[in-house]
Amino acid sequence: MAHSWLEPPYSITRPPMSVTYNHNRIPDQVDVKCPNCGQQAEFEFAEVRRIKLKTDVEFFKNSNTFEYRQFQDSCGHYWHGALYFAGFHGPPHSAIHELPEGYLPGHWEHSGYLYVDHGLDIGSVRCLNCQLAAKHNLRWPVDAYFSISYKHHVLWAFNRESACDLNNYLQSKCRDVFKYRWRWFLLHVPTVFKTHKARETVSRRILRLLSSAKADIRVALFKSTIRKKSNHSHPKFKRDSVPHNPW
Ligand SMILES: [Zn+2]
Repeated sequence: MAHSWLEPPYSITRPPMSVTYNHNRIPDQVDVKCPNCGQQAEFEFAEVRRIKLKTDVEFFKNSNTFEYRQFQDSCGHYWHGALYFAGFHGPPHSAIHELPEGYLPGHWEHSGYLYVDHGLDIGSVRCLNCQLAAKHNLRWPVDAYFSISYKHHVLWAFNRESACDLNNYLQSKCRDVFKYRWRWFLLHVPTVFKTHKARETVSRRILRLLSSAKADIRVALFKSTIRKKSNHSHPKFKRDSVPHNPW
């Protein structure tokens, strides 16, 4: 039971180079296909911090805000971790009110950089279409919502903004990635998608996906959360849909 988190934790799913492109950075939040209904949903990584003292373990085990887990490092040593799911609770500074000495809410903030720094692929997925709010192990880029195929190659983007940058970049005659916010992502786009021949087909498929996608899923999810918070007769999320132990 629950064997997967005892495996080496530094195992974020990486696609093989021959199939698609690869790099080490991924944002804290990405748009995914909802595992329940297949519509556009948001995945947000959980943050994990090591529990320093054995005497602190009980606090995190009993907390409604954290999830306690035991991890194993690459040398085989076990360590205690406290996971925080911002996708369920919101920013840590507004949701974490009590902590043992030596810990701060900021310890569970996202890194602030456009990559994850803990190497875990655990997080939460929220879908406005079917109201799913569940823990999820990200499989990237299999889960990517902004994903198209072209000649047996998969082209994906992290979210709407990076998909727009990708399309503009592919359409542009000037291939200066430094004009774009998602430049580090564009730098890794394989040549097969950048050829003159591919441009029209690839762009048409990206645009079709963009036109069917929500304009801003994060704003919509935020509004949905506020609405549910103000209605006390309803739970914050459809928590029944959260598997008891999805791993
Ligand atoms: Zn859904």
